[in-house]
Amino acid sequence: CGIVGYIGNRDSKSILINGLKKLEYRGYDSAGIAVYTNRGLEVKKAKGRLAVLEEELNTNPIKGSIGIGHTRWATHGKPSDENSHPHCDPSQKFSVVHNGIIENYVNLKEELIAKGHTFSSETDTEVIAHLISDLYEGDIVKAVQKAVDRMRGAYALAVLCEDEPDKLIAVRLASPLIIGISEGESYIGSDIPAILEHTRDVYILNDGEMAILTKDEVTLQDVNGNDIQKDVFHVDWDI
Ligand code: GLU
Repeated sequence: CGIVGYIGNRDSKSILINGLKKLEYRGYDSAGIAVYTNRGLEVKKAKGRLAVLEEELNTNPIKGSIGIGHTRWATHGKPSDENSHPHCDPSQKFSVVHNGIIENYVNLKEELIAKGHTFSSETDTEVIAHLISDLYEGDIVKAVQKAVDRMRGAYALAVLCEDEPDKLIAVRLASPLIIGISEGESYIGSDIPAILEHTRDVYILNDGEMAILTKDEVTLQDVNGNDIQKDVFHVDWDI
């Protein structure tokens, strides 16, 4: 599947959709976006090609300058509106897009159900959003670190938290993820073409690396919270 994310000052909807168009080759059974708007976190997602989502967004636009998006290639749960990403926790405060497979999702799901969580999809991914909300104690970076510590399998994730709308979190293990940096804007993509029209300066994340994006800076950490220094990769080719 394909993942995109944007934080900056511009309207995120078309940036996310255009990025997803470049990633549609990675999967195309459904698509969705989550945007932080003046009403809080809003999600629009739909089964089918990206064009279906695009049409829905033209009819019912969502406006905001921070968001994440996904085009899905289903592994767990049939292609459907409910199984499309982004996935949220029950309070709708945490939104997650995911590329990969969480191998221990059944165990995690049972544990969360025992704690009172109810699930609205058949995906492994929804468990991640619930797990982050369960572990959240006012710091989204720490909650994501604790959540990935519980997860087994492969993931590239972008996470948006309604209570901390000044940042986006990206983390990966065994699925590709890159971060784009630009003046007053930061981007997440599954690959470079997804963001190349906006910036040529990127960080290529390795396994176990996490990025905390604000519009003005990107901080890199390992999943234990230690800072990482990494050279910016300048893309000097065109698509
Ligand atoms: N395992 C997740 C799902 O089936 C993500 C699949 C993907 O990478 O698109 O929803």
